[in-house]
Amino acid sequence: MKRIGVIGVGYLGQHHVRILSEFKDVRLSGISDINLERAEEIGRLYGCPVFEDYRELLDRVDAVSIVTPTVTHFEISREALLREKDLFVEKPLTHDLAEAEELVRLAKEKKRILQVGHLERYNPAYRKAKEIIGDILYIIAERLSPFTGRGADVDITFDLMIHDLDLVVDLIGGEVIVGDLHSHGLSLVTDKIDFATVWLDFSVTKVLLFSSRISTDKRRTLTLFCNDYYLIADLMAQTLRRVRPAGQGRLISEDISVEKSEPLKEELRDFVDCINSRRPPLVSGEDILYPLSLAVKITEQIRWRGNSLGGFKG
Ligand code: NAD
Repeated sequence: MKRIGVIGVGYLGQHHVRILSEFKDVRLSGISDINLERAEEIGRLYGCPVFEDYRELLDRVDAVSIVTPTVTHFEISREALLREKDLFVEKPLTHDLAEAEELVRLAKEKKRILQVGHLERYNPAYRKAKEIIGDILYIIAERLSPFTGRGADVDITFDLMIHDLDLVVDLIGGEVIVGDLHSHGLSLVTDKIDFATVWLDFSVTKVLLFSSRISTDKRRTLTLFCNDYYLIADLMAQTLRRVRPAGQGRLISEDISVEKSEPLKEELRDFVDCINSRRPPLVSGEDILYPLSLAVKITEQIRWRGNSLGGFKG
């Protein structure tokens, strides 16, 4: 039975602890958080040992799930890989491409699993859409949230837009950008980019992404246009609709059946199976290097544009 620990037990980390504690083939060997009070609260709830310093936890496990703020991912992941632990790291792996590449290289050298927490890949509405879609001509992704303060250690491009960049690359396979990318954004609440739009020109597929953490409502939708129909996946409600022309300017909309699930549970199940079987995960460190490189380019362009207009604080 593999011994797994969780580092960072804030908003999302508590759910990693809950789910891992339910798996019969896992020993939840401990948790760590620099907020000791929080760690002890979660430790009591799930009956597992608590460590204030994550390095002490690393000595006692075969694998860890890293659910700390993004700016800490590189240091903690590197330390865990150097100690030859299998790793699940929440998205984004890092907000720096060279650091992500270094982690991928280290995981290969140490023959460790490096899975990245892009849980939308396990979303049943996304999976169904991917299964039935034909050639995609146009993608629109909207990912909007009210401001919570969480994730504000990095730009919105790394916090939220990275999910959709990963989905787009997964959907269109080997296509690479042929034209330029056009991005715009602004900072309103933090000193980082809080709102971003980008237009990406792949060879066949054109993509429009819109991400915000300063919205009044929460929305996660993916609209995929083909030649003669389009699909709308609501990734929050886990629903899927197909819309088709029905002649004389009319459109027919039909619901496509989706079996709902908890994507985080599917994702962590996959992690444990990868640890046991040594097969590569659905979303490996290597897989996210291209989406991450796009996030870096978009961020740089927004900053350059913003600064040239004198209106961007970051
Ligand atoms: P959070 O602020 O609620 O929790 C982070 C926790 O990490 C806090 O309890 C903090 O005390 C702890 N921490 C900070 N530095 C630490 C260190 N060096 N060692 C141990 N603990 C440390 O944040 P969150 O919303 O849970 O986000 C955590 C990560 O999960 C981020 O990378 C975020 O991008 C990601 N996330 C992913 C999704 C998703 O959809 N996949 C959703 C939310 C968050």
